[in-house]
Amino acid sequence: MDQSLIPTSEAVSRLVQELNKLPSIGPKSAQRLAYYLLRAPQEQVRLLAEAILSVQQETKLCSTCFNVTDADPCPICSGNQRDRTRVCIVEQPQDILALEHTHIYKGLYHVLHGAISPTEGVGIDNIRIKELLSRLQNSSISEVILATNPTLEGEQTAIYLSKLIVPLGIKVTRLAQGLPFGTELEYADDVTLTRAIEGRQEF
Ligand SMILES: [Zn+2]
Repeated sequence: MDQSLIPTSEAVSRLVQELNKLPSIGPKSAQRLAYYLLRAPQEQVRLLAEAILSVQQETKLCSTCFNVTDADPCPICSGNQRDRTRVCIVEQPQDILALEHTHIYKGLYHVLHGAISPTEGVGIDNIRIKELLSRLQNSSISEVILATNPTLEGEQTAIYLSKLIVPLGIKVTRLAQGLPFGTELEYADDVTLTRAIEGRQEF
């Protein structure tokens, strides 16, 4: 075994520990990544470290849709090719990437940054619901598409939002249930997601 691979280094253990805190990275994967980085070209490691730091330092939330962006308003909110009569409500910024990837939806978005979950202590004030309601008032938006995840929390959130939005005289639709219950949007394939958008139903 290469001397550098004997796991007796404080620095290696520290890196393994930090990587292990990331989602979907178990102890074995953390170890594999740490040893990979240990042997990787210095330039590659530097670029990775810089990218990690700048993801927080150089981004902000769009003050209209709350998507992660470098510029406020974000390119979707400021884009003149977008259909400004529709807004699609998602739980997380990465859900927008999944929906944009289908190339079928041309409207606007609103990121809640979570879903209502009494068991996890996430209430209506912990996600961007207030901001959504004030955005809908006096706007040109005529349809709200609820694209929260088909999970218990996502469903609860969709039902709660529909009760608030329908009285505003705005049409409320929900993605068709081509998506299996329990699936997170970001992991859905393009075909399933396309069908779900096309088959959206009035709530
Ligand atoms: Zn935006």
